[in-house]
Amino acid sequence: MALIVQKYGGTSMGSVERIEHVARKVASWHGQGHQVVVVVSAMSGETDRLLKLAKSIDPRGSQREFDQIAATGEQVTIGLLALALGKVGVSARSYTGWQVPIRTDGSHMKARIQEIDAERLRSDCEAGIVPVVAGFQGICDDNSVTTLGRGGSDTTGVALAAALKADECQIYTDVDGVYTTDPRVEPKARRLDHITFEEMLELASLGSKVLQIRSVEFAGKYKVPLRVLSTFVDGPGTLITLEDNKMEEPLISGIAFNRDEAQITMSGVPDRPGIAAAILGPVGEANIEVDMIVQNVGGDGATDFTFTVHRNDYERTLEVMSRLGAELGAKGVASATDIVKVSLVGVGMRSHAGIASKMFKALAAAGINIRMISTSEIKISVVIEEMYLELAVRTLHKAFGLETAPAA
Ligand code: ADP
Ligand code: ASP
Ligand code: MG
Repeated sequence: MALIVQKYGGTSMGSVERIEHVARKVASWHGQGHQVVVVVSAMSGETDRLLKLAKSIDPRGSQREFDQIAATGEQVTIGLLALALGKVGVSARSYTGWQVPIRTDGSHMKARIQEIDAERLRSDCEAGIVPVVAGFQGICDDNSVTTLGRGGSDTTGVALAAALKADECQIYTDVDGVYTTDPRVEPKARRLDHITFEEMLELASLGSKVLQIRSVEFAGKYKVPLRVLSTFVDGPGTLITLEDNKMEEPLISGIAFNRDEAQITMSGVPDRPGIAAAILGPVGEANIEVDMIVQNVGGDGATDFTFTVHRNDYERTLEVMSRLGAELGAKGVASATDIVKVSLVGVGMRSHAGIASKMFKALAAAGINIRMISTSEIKISVVIEEMYLELAVRTLHKAFGLETAPAA
């Protein structure tokens, strides 16, 4: 008999029929003698709808109130699933974040889980009851409701699994595992039987939204066995493993992309010590996170400084940069939002040279211009024009032979 945490995403909770399907799945695990704790998302599209409603009143309104509103989506689905479980003969009890409680810090809309009191959930399990917990939400020190950032129910699932020392955390979604790239963009993408935490962390941080990055961090830190599976098709899914113990590591495990970035360039800034700090300091002070940075010095003693930020921060960044441009005597400030970042990820890169040049050659052959490049030990990212996203992903998927499984 095992203790399993199962998280069901928005599509899996998308209608009454689907919720009843989920209830039958949970009942089947429970019927086999396992203790099951369920975490759910809001119905698909609901969180977007709620945030749009909130922003229609004041887009720059209080984030505490945004959280209060957004968290209601999950309050509905926990109740619905508990009812559906009751109907198939399983005793279930629903819990919002504060009823558990799941304690977080006070950073609204991107709160971090600090502590979970799992006592009540544990005693429910021992009494044969299935607790159904609202994902994505918690409560902070002043008793305000917080949310964990978009896709945050994954993190609730893994954090509960860690707190309960569960045997496995199963993330049920609308794909049957983690693929070499988003199957919506490359239909030839292949499901991976397993992937290392390190690679999954890179893929998630570079834009693969199949798992929220914090859930992967949590799973790695607390050594929670984590599996991604389909709600609708039976199968083994993808296991996220601590170590890849295969002798033959694939060179590239996957391709991620991120449509949420915007690029800003300040050109013709006088080249002197401290200029990078002078530009990025005020951006950081405005609480804007910078992703890629490129600086190059021209022959005329002036430098061009380019960086990317999240598109949500684009307008604010542009305001800061326009002010700074004048102060620093820059020639101009240019910007673009029609860009994407495409990244190759693989632990096998460590031991192989030439991956970057192969990537750049493949993109060039497809007529795709690279605007920015950044590399780290197990990833290479490029920024390109958004219109080439699909072409770039498919070109790289083919160039690196990702549609066929590596020889065992
Ligand atoms: P849920 O609502 O269940 O949390 P999400 O939409 O957050 O589901 O995540 C599942 C989606 O992630 C898939 O439908 C797929 O389009 C997308 N995705 C992006 N990258 C990958 C990948 N490498 N493997 C599988 N799915 C991916
Ligand atoms: N409902 C939240 C969202 O849409 C959390 C989640 O689905 O994981 O972001
Ligand atoms: Mg998700």
